[in-house]
Amino acid sequence: MAWPPTLVIFDCDGVLVDSELPANRTFRLMLAEQGLDLSLAETVGLLKGLSLPACAVLLRERFDLALPDDFFDRLQQRTYQAFRDELSAVPGIKDAVEDLALPFCVASSGAIEKMHFTLGLTGLLDLFRDRMYSAEQVARGKPFPDLFLHAAQQMGHSPDTCVVVEDSLPGVKAAQAAGMSVLGFAGTELADGDELGAAGATVFSDMRDLGALLV
Ligand SMILES: [Mg+2]
Repeated sequence: MAWPPTLVIFDCDGVLVDSELPANRTFRLMLAEQGLDLSLAETVGLLKGLSLPACAVLLRERFDLALPDDFFDRLQQRTYQAFRDELSAVPGIKDAVEDLALPFCVASSGAIEKMHFTLGLTGLLDLFRDRMYSAEQVARGKPFPDLFLHAAQQMGHSPDTCVVVEDSLPGVKAAQAAGMSVLGFAGTELADGDELGAAGATVFSDMRDLGALLV
């Protein structure tokens, strides 16, 4: 990996928007309604950072849980309502992005349409509108490298000069598998900095420190 980087690839949930708590609380509640009673910590530990199709596979394989056909549609409706009620941008992220001296983009396990919604609610959409990449666009989501490699290629950068900012273990693994540097952001309530650090990420917890970490 080469340093300093030429491109910053941001994860969305838990890095740009503080969405993990409302999203995981809603997911936990709806799984309980299906008879799977996980704690919030268990829900986060199992599902955070994964795409919804990957969540469905994991729940089927681990718990033999077959979700109803409309489960993810209803989950999205209830999650979006929770976002309308309580979603905020990660503190300091707008200034940190506006002050970046490098090109940047966002690459999320979530859908492009979901990013439009969450970034729009939090005043960040104009910064990322033309540079959004989603697991929908590749064969395999995180922890596979496909999404970050796709984002780097679309942005015109070599993977080894990209740095990824991630708050989840699948995301850190995906960045490493792509041959990219990775910063682990542990500044939100559900982030586990020890876990990110043990996986090899350089951990930070205040977006005001981002600029200094990129030189
Ligand atoms: Mg995340």
